[in-house]
Amino acid sequence: MLSLNSKFEYRNSKQIIIFKTSMFQTNKFRIWRIRILNLFRISDFGFRIFLIFILPVILLSGCQDKQLYKDNRVLMGTFVDVISPDKDAAQIVFAEIQRVENLLSKYKPGSEVARLNSLGKLTVSRETLEIIKKSYEFWQISDGAFDITIGPLVNLWGFTDKKYRLPKKSEINKALKLVGSDKILFNNLNNVVKFKLPGMKIDLGGIAKGYALDCAVKRLKENGIKSCLINLGGQIYCLGDRFGKPWQIAIQGPRKKEFKEILALRNQGISTSGDYEQYFSINNLRYCHIINPKTGYPADSGIQSVTIVTENNLEADALSTAIFVLGPEKGRKLADKFNAVDVKIAVDKI
Ligand code: ADP
Ligand code: MG
Repeated sequence: MLSLNSKFEYRNSKQIIIFKTSMFQTNKFRIWRIRILNLFRISDFGFRIFLIFILPVILLSGCQDKQLYKDNRVLMGTFVDVISPDKDAAQIVFAEIQRVENLLSKYKPGSEVARLNSLGKLTVSRETLEIIKKSYEFWQISDGAFDITIGPLVNLWGFTDKKYRLPKKSEINKALKLVGSDKILFNNLNNVVKFKLPGMKIDLGGIAKGYALDCAVKRLKENGIKSCLINLGGQIYCLGDRFGKPWQIAIQGPRKKEFKEILALRNQGISTSGDYEQYFSINNLRYCHIINPKTGYPADSGIQSVTIVTENNLEADALSTAIFVLGPEKGRKLADKFNAVDVKIAVDKI
């Protein structure tokens, strides 16, 4: 059995409309549904046109004394939804995610990561240094599957500017020379981070959202907020519960619309990495945004999606990306080294 959870073993399908993750709030008589829907359309050239819709969301539960506040924003290149009985929760979450984005996003010209990428050497904040070091640890423990130095490859395949392309083998080989987290040098005493080779670029897309979520949860707790659900582009955390009952998160298959499982979560989060969010297709071959740092090609381990349930969002984020690269068997072994509560893998071939 390759799948870690047989419920999540799906077969390939050509469906192009995919629901990702939904959150359900139930009471005795109604199911209030909040759904983020990702609609993908394949154009004449086989490239994906990417649209995101948010279906109507429910602001209040049945009773007036059980009011839930709901707000959303676009941050870190994705939708952020916040639901809480506390009306201040959303602003606290948005401010914290914005702060992390300003620090770690390669797209923000003034961020420490963008400056490091353009200069090749930078004195960074302790916080950025710690994230780079964490990423390095994940590189080590995942046997190189999780590697933030894949920046040049992500650019080459067009995932940074969304101008997708199939690079030549020679271009991939050239970019591969710049990849490898052992080529990042960091000095713990003066916070200097330096690339060994000119042209190296780091991309924290596989870990920064998890970190931002951890930071947001910390801020909520500091502000005495005990109940909140945050959805940061499919990476979800459930703080406390919803009026005494666990938050309910419905997981949908990577190719099909039906819900595969509903999770009841308290003080836990889930992170999903999949091949159905950012990808393009040429000649019926799917090229997704998670790159195998060993080959320089988009990961092709047979996994369609991997979902991690855990208390630590940073860990879940990096782990889901790494497992997507490693494949079900090696991925399972890696997950065993962490405190993941549950690991669900959907595979498309055995
Ligand atoms: P999402 O960002 O859709 O939640 P992931 O958490 O799996 O999905 O992160 C994918 C992102 O991570 C890519 O868009 C890219 O920025 C970065 N990335 C791609 N391949 C790797 C890799 N092998 N190791 C670390 N980060 C990667
Ligand atoms: Mg990730």
